[in-house]
Amino acid sequence: MLTPTKKILLKAQKQGYAVGAFNINNMEISHAVMEAAEREKAPVICQTSEGSLEYAGMDMLLAIGRQLALTSKVPVAIHLDHGKHPEVVKVAIAAGYQSVMYDGSSNPFEKNIEITSGIVKLAHEKNVSVEAELGAIAGIEDFVSVKERDAHLTNPKQALEFTKRTRCDFLAIAIGTLHGAYKFSGRSHLDISRLKEIKALVKVPLALHGASSVPKDLVKQIEKHGGKLGTPVGVSDGDLKEAVKNGICKVNTDTDLRLAFTAGVRKILTQEPGEFDPRKILASAYDEMVATIRWKIKLLGSSNKA
Ligand SMILES: [Zn+2]
Repeated sequence: MLTPTKKILLKAQKQGYAVGAFNINNMEISHAVMEAAEREKAPVICQTSEGSLEYAGMDMLLAIGRQLALTSKVPVAIHLDHGKHPEVVKVAIAAGYQSVMYDGSSNPFEKNIEITSGIVKLAHEKNVSVEAELGAIAGIEDFVSVKERDAHLTNPKQALEFTKRTRCDFLAIAIGTLHGAYKFSGRSHLDISRLKEIKALVKVPLALHGASSVPKDLVKQIEKHGGKLGTPVGVSDGDLKEAVKNGICKVNTDTDLRLAFTAGVRKILTQEPGEFDPRKILASAYDEMVATIRWKIKLLGSSNKA
């Protein structure tokens, strides 16, 4: 059932688990997210990025997401991921999203507060909740010095001031994760002590971006069937569990779905070279995605929380 994002995330915060926020770029991915959530009896967030809106159109993705949500038994929210342009965020608020993200993290602190506050005001009038972002989501290894790292990762005291002044409902924080499949040159490592400090000060649910796991079995399967990925590295299961234990309530996942999709398509095209029915090719991608999403939901602790 279509459910406010705020309701879903406040429950997660209270009970100490995280909800998966999966990027839906087309019908098959949306279906896979819903099937996995239903089988796990888990609340779920379906989100669309500005890139996906350019690809498929807001009306189309919103219609698919809503249709699936209306007929589902688990709580589902439709969320705008990384709205970087206030105009797009405003259109999403009017279009009927349960929540929107305004990502003003590339702006200076005061400018980020100013624009975010304006969006929060507009959104709250329509009962839409807002995720804001503070800090640069970039891998820890990108920072050569501790000073540089401090300048980019979320500052706990600033996070408190930011949430109070903007009245945002959720906050995406930077603790050393990185978008994409190539996050670390070695082992995954997140700044958990920084997360603990933020959690102690900030009252709103916290979101983690760039938190794909990059499952090794999917990478292997892609390479076995002709793909070439180099050496992608994601966030380890241990780090992700630790982050959830210490206050992360929303975990964004896009890369893992892309990997699962590709693994499924490569597998069927290699194993059945005569196959040319798109429905059968996409069914293989679908099965891989459902398995990956179910695994992720279990890892986040949101199974049986619907
Ligand atoms: Zn993100």
